[in-house]
Amino acid sequence: LTLIIASRPNVYSGSPLDRAAEKRDDAGWIEAALADPDTLFVPLWRARNLVRAAEGGRPEAVYISGEAAAVLRMSGSGPWAFLGLLAGRPVFAIDISHVDDPLPLLPEALGEFADLRVVGGGGMDRAEASILAHARGIMHWRLKHRFCGVCGARCEPRSAGYTAVCTGCETQHFPRTDPAVIMLVHRGGRSLLGHSQRFPHANMYSTLAGFVEPGETLEEAVRREVMEETRVRVGQVNYHSSQPWPFPASIMLGFYAEALTDEVTLDPHELQDARWFSRGDLRDHERLGFTLPRPDSIARRLIEDWLAAER
Ligand SMILES: [Zn+2]
Repeated sequence: LTLIIASRPNVYSGSPLDRAAEKRDDAGWIEAALADPDTLFVPLWRARNLVRAAEGGRPEAVYISGEAAAVLRMSGSGPWAFLGLLAGRPVFAIDISHVDDPLPLLPEALGEFADLRVVGGGGMDRAEASILAHARGIMHWRLKHRFCGVCGARCEPRSAGYTAVCTGCETQHFPRTDPAVIMLVHRGGRSLLGHSQRFPHANMYSTLAGFVEPGETLEEAVRREVMEETRVRVGQVNYHSSQPWPFPASIMLGFYAEALTDEVTLDPHELQDARWFSRGDLRDHERLGFTLPRPDSIARRLIEDWLAAER
């Protein structure tokens, strides 16, 4: 049995923020922080983050403070949440999706609203990418859980945006993160990668993945998903690492899964193709005419660490 250890941290991890959760229920402190001209705001607009091109075209996060922040806060009733302290400075996420054209609200040409999935893996500083991911995730929850799932009444935010309390039945709702397992299935020096019609590239092959269902362990979810998608039976399952994946609300839990069988029978609703690849095939993927998953994904990390573990 070979254990493969994560070689380096995943993109969207490693936030420099102190979440300072004890401040969330200190209404006086939060109110003062919101009004402080030094406080930083991470604006979200229709699930997009504000970024600009730094030196060399590298994407860089744009934080709003001072007068610009005051203008943003006065722009309406978008949700906000306290993210934490960045070297002692309070940082909030603020959503301005209700504004049709947000850039004129900002006094200078500060950047543009972009999809973090597009810019986050493109050389953005990992600490910044993790703050933008945090902001995007909590704002998504706030926007999509405005009504109570118990009685249907409207919810009101509490705890600086981390709790929603129902105005009807007083049920408390908390931010959701949906666990998903993602696994590199291997057997005898080969790994099983699949191609789905949902992938962005027609010739991309990646690790299998799926959501954890109620009443199962992570290991059981790994075995079930592999069985459902390919009919391959999995034995030993070993944890590798995890990755926040707020696109919109997941955490990816990465595993190596040792296959006990190798005959593949596809579920055509899930996968268009799945094949066993040798390490040589994967290293040679360009010449062989297929692509691997994006560099910021845990799927790519699972593949790269498996390639490096050859012995
Ligand atoms: Zn309710």
